[in-house]
Amino acid sequence: MDLRDRPEDVAFRHEVRCFLHEHLVGEFAELGGRGGSGDETFGFEVRRRWERVLAEGGWTCLGWPVEHGGRGASMTEQVIFNEEYARAAAPGRVNVVGEGLLGPTLIHYGTPEQQARFLPPVRAGAELWCQGYSEPDAGSDLANVKTRAVRDGDEWVVTGQKVWTSLAHQADWCFVVCRTDPAASRHRGLSYLLVPMDQPGVEVRPITQMTRTSEFNEVFFDGARTQVQNVVGGVGDGWRVALATLAFERGVALLGYQLGFRRELDRIVALAAANGKSGDPVLRQRLAQAHIELTIMRYNTLRSLSGVDGPVAPPEASIAKLFWGSWHRRLGELAMGVLGPAATVLDGEPLPENGGYGLGDLQRSFLVARSETIYGGSNQIQRNIIGERVLGLPPEPKGVA
Ligand SMILES: Cc1cc2nc3c(=O)[nH]c(=O)nc-3n(C[C@H](O)[C@H](O)[C@H](O)COP(=O)(O)OP(=O)(O)OC[C@H]3O[C@@H](n4cnc5c(N)ncnc54)[C@H](O)[C@@H]3O)c2cc1C
Repeated sequence: MDLRDRPEDVAFRHEVRCFLHEHLVGEFAELGGRGGSGDETFGFEVRRRWERVLAEGGWTCLGWPVEHGGRGASMTEQVIFNEEYARAAAPGRVNVVGEGLLGPTLIHYGTPEQQARFLPPVRAGAELWCQGYSEPDAGSDLANVKTRAVRDGDEWVVTGQKVWTSLAHQADWCFVVCRTDPAASRHRGLSYLLVPMDQPGVEVRPITQMTRTSEFNEVFFDGARTQVQNVVGGVGDGWRVALATLAFERGVALLGYQLGFRRELDRIVALAAANGKSGDPVLRQRLAQAHIELTIMRYNTLRSLSGVDGPVAPPEASIAKLFWGSWHRRLGELAMGVLGPAATVLDGEPLPENGGYGLGDLQRSFLVARSETIYGGSNQIQRNIIGERVLGLPPEPKGVA
């Protein structure tokens, strides 16, 4: 595969650069690319305004088909957009879940009415989404979901608890995997419901993370209601739809995250050159190794995603997820090594609320990277998928004590 820009890619790259050059100014440029994980509340309202600027320019939902309001952008174009976005240090996006997970799922499994109702506000940056999958006893084993939905006239009534729900405190809607038929087998009794967050039956309790922010939450549904037509893919078909969303999560949606890595590595290299750590022979080796692996990762990601056209991520997406999550975790450790003793001193902005200081960018990234080997399917789960679907090993034994 030839990874050099073709003439049409050069033109597309130029178009993205011109847009960002013209619009990434003032309050948007002042954010300096912040607003990612562990930093999710930073400049939130400004980032919401930025989302609308992107939408007006037609730069949200690039990969969605044109008939659903997207650009029908090819994988190459999406990569180019994300590369330029990271290079320009544009603000952290506020609706990755709506654009990257809910949207593609509805495009494949939603009814025309659901598509008409829910896709335009995602595209416009007007409605934010969160993902209600995990529960205290259902993480890797998602089919163990216990949250129940019972039909009551024209509505579903939802009762149960979700956990680790990212950005639930900012979301307008949640796609909730819940049990609609307790008598059916584990996978068959599930449905995929779209539930509004702003109602008395929904309580969101933040969980404080290592970063001292609360990107994720517990969400309690206590008689929460949603209209009966807000079930995606049919009643009892939730497992198939939920897996499709996971395939998007492990495939294309993750691509965006890793494109900022080059900027981060460049910073660490510059820091090593400035603070004398580049003279340390072991750190030099590790920096060179990080560069090599990042280069491999980029090529491999492009290769493994080049055949993706639909909800079924190839098992190779698991290799990419495993590789980048583990690489970024090692990069965080390397960054702390390059910072040396300074890594133990908070060097972020002063915190008015307690007179202390916040995390610096590299410190934050070091901490956040721990979670990247867990969400979107943990490293162990990715290895299980690779074992079964790439190596052809017999299925993992179930229910063995
Ligand atoms: C930052 C972050 C954001 C998240 N955001 C969301 C969100 O928005 N919505 C949502 O629904 N969830 C979210 N999650 C939850 C995430 O999907 C789960 O944490 C993940 O699926 C693992 O589930 P668990 O935490 O219950 O761990 P468990 O499933 O209990 O696993 C515990 C350990 O056992 C290992 N393990 C489990 N089963 C197997 C097996 N069969 N073979 C080998 N090893 C196994 C796991 O790898 C892990 O190391 C988020 C998690 C994080 C860290």
